[in-house]
Amino acid sequence: MSFRKILLAAAIAAAVGLFFALDLGRYFSLEALKAQQTAIEAFRARQPWLAAALYFAMYVAVTALSLPGAVLMTLAGGAVFGLWWGTLIVSFASSVGATLAFLVSRFLLRDWVTARFGERLAAIDAGIKREGAFYLFTLRLVPVFPFFVINLLFGLTAMKARTFYWVSQLGMLAGTLVYVNAGTQLAKIESLAGIVSPGLLISFGLLGVFPLIAKKIVAAVRANQVYARWSKPSRFDRNLVVIGGGSAGLVTAYIAAAVKARVTLVEKHRMGGDCLNTGCVPSKALIRSAKFLSHTRRATEFGCRSGTADFDFGEVMERVQRVVRAVEPHDSVERYTGLGVEVIEGTAKIVSPWEVDVTRENGATERLSTRGIVIAAGARPFVPPIPGLEQVGYLTSDTVWALRELPGRLVVLGGGPIGCELTQTFARLGAKVTQVEMAPRIMIREDVEVSEMVTRRFRAEGVDVLVNHKAKQFAIEDGEKILIAEHDGQDVRIPFDVVLVAVGRVANLKGYGLEEVGVVTSRTVDTNEFLQTNYPNIYAAGDVAGPYQFTHTAAHQAWYAAVNALFDPFKKFKADYRVIPWSTFVEPEVARVGLNEQEAKEKGVPFEVSRYELDDLDRAIADSEAHGFVKVLTVPGKDRILGVTIVGEHAGDLIAEYVLAMKQGIGLNKILGTIHIYPTLAEANKYAAGVWKKAHAPQQLLAWVARFHAWRRGE
Ligand SMILES: Cc1cc2nc3c(=O)[nH]c(=O)nc-3n(C[C@H](O)[C@H](O)[C@H](O)COP(=O)(O)OP(=O)(O)OC[C@H]3O[C@@H](n4cnc5c(N)ncnc54)[C@H](O)[C@@H]3O)c2cc1C
Repeated sequence: MSFRKILLAAAIAAAVGLFFALDLGRYFSLEALKAQQTAIEAFRARQPWLAAALYFAMYVAVTALSLPGAVLMTLAGGAVFGLWWGTLIVSFASSVGATLAFLVSRFLLRDWVTARFGERLAAIDAGIKREGAFYLFTLRLVPVFPFFVINLLFGLTAMKARTFYWVSQLGMLAGTLVYVNAGTQLAKIESLAGIVSPGLLISFGLLGVFPLIAKKIVAAVRANQVYARWSKPSRFDRNLVVIGGGSAGLVTAYIAAAVKARVTLVEKHRMGGDCLNTGCVPSKALIRSAKFLSHTRRATEFGCRSGTADFDFGEVMERVQRVVRAVEPHDSVERYTGLGVEVIEGTAKIVSPWEVDVTRENGATERLSTRGIVIAAGARPFVPPIPGLEQVGYLTSDTVWALRELPGRLVVLGGGPIGCELTQTFARLGAKVTQVEMAPRIMIREDVEVSEMVTRRFRAEGVDVLVNHKAKQFAIEDGEKILIAEHDGQDVRIPFDVVLVAVGRVANLKGYGLEEVGVVTSRTVDTNEFLQTNYPNIYAAGDVAGPYQFTHTAAHQAWYAAVNALFDPFKKFKADYRVIPWSTFVEPEVARVGLNEQEAKEKGVPFEVSRYELDDLDRAIADSEAHGFVKVLTVPGKDRILGVTIVGEHAGDLIAEYVLAMKQGIGLNKILGTIHIYPTLAEANKYAAGVWKKAHAPQQLLAWVARFHAWRRGE
């Protein structure tokens, strides 16, 4: 705590202490006020301005110091200055005093509270920004909590002092009027309790919630304005139409059918979408084959003299397709039809907020009417407008799966998860891979040490990782394809046979009616926290809605989209993004949930790090995979987990324990107290918790325990 803070805290403590020590509270009673009323009025008659100034100052002091007595002071205001002058003075004095209390609380405690509850406070601040003024107004009119508590609590939030001041003044006005008015009849008042009748309290309550209700009504009217130009069908053939049969669309349709809604799923290409056909499934299948090859090359590490694998790239790629076909039934038309979903293979186009046209492959079009629509149209690879790219030709994650001949020299553009996974995989399959990334490191969202570990491994496996290289132009020179990249202001020329573009994915927003109907989009379909678009009956989920682009987040959103679309306005849920895990399936595998160090620093969230190195873990040593770490960020001094990064074998599986812990509010102490099977990689999670425990061992207590043992030994 700074010296200024200590000084202020001491001054306030002294003032409050004096108030109670000298029993000044006795002057703030009804009897004392009545007894002194004549004398005070006489003083006011002689020195009206001085009396007003003294009264104002006293009122401000009482409120600013959160001392009991504000009600009495308000009555006195009415008794001494009359209704209108009394109301004027009290209204300003109480607002100034409340704002001072608010500022004191902010000055003394806000930093401390931010340091301790950074992330939770951020969520509260976001709410305060949206609706804080309305809530404060309500709390001022409906005195559920004492005003001094409100002053102090709002000081801890990010509400602007100006807003706090004027909302308080406005909100307290009605109450001030009532009490000042009562003060003008001071002689008749027998107790403070009877001043506000139950009827008046109810009126205040109604007045207090009125702005909130009005706000909700205005929002509802605004939301419904978008429907003004449409005529709503009197009945619908379906409860829900889902556009897109990828991860988001499938789960949406599944949930809708499970709760007995009539739901139609429209897919224009292949059921299963990206994940099954061109994303997770084929990439993981190819990664597995490449991993097998990498193991044969590491034969000596496993005690074998040598190891080779005779393989054909085309056959490996055929296995990938076999894996896709093996998983395909999970996402098939047959399965979903069996689950109660009507599946239509065709292209959907939204033609009104309640109608979707579906065009089948044979050109036949059918109009579906529906109460709700969920857009789950996914994303596609982003192809940057680099001169020459179209001329040289390129692959993306959509087209790479058709390759049957291994490229000799492969350039992978992009150092994100997809670029990294494919870089290592193709290198292991025998291509000479150059990875080109314009940022200073690959896997830029992860901590620097993670990027460095992965880069080291890539380089050890023969990948040429070029960071700080911006692809500027593609060209064909003497029949050879060349990428010209800019590095440190110089042009670097990289010859290659095939280029794979993996620089990000963009949401599919065109060609299915969003523009025509007026569904608002930016980089994705814009949605609120309930996943509603600007048309409250049209929802979006998955890659098309963002912000995450994973199968598991698509499925997570799908639950909210389905339930909200089917049960609004009776019940709807805000999508919960508090605990989002992901993994990049390179070797060493990288998995994360919650904050890492760089994000915590960017957000100003204080943290402690507990780190366990996997080279110490028995199972990792036995498996010859003794590399990587478990890094847990916790709230300083507590075992509450803020985030975890795991780098190493099966990191994506290991992190599940921490995902559960974060979601269910389980701390490191409980993980430490849980039996983990020996010898498994999962023990690393427990050992990381042990590192935290050791760092927080109660040293003083242990010193006493040591003395206890010494005493027991008779020393
Ligand atoms: C190479 C690669 C690897 C990946 N690996 C992983 C991973 O390991 N783990 C992970 O979680 N995520 C991974 N992802 C991401 C994951 O694939 C996506 O996040 C997920 O598929 C998104 O699902 P979605 O339903 O939003 O979209 P999609 O799966 O793209 O589905 C959208 C569907 O909508 C259909 N559609 C579009 N417009 C219309 C229309 N007008 N009418 C009818 N149908 C339409 C499309 O044909 C498509 O089938 C990977 C992605 C790639 C490219």
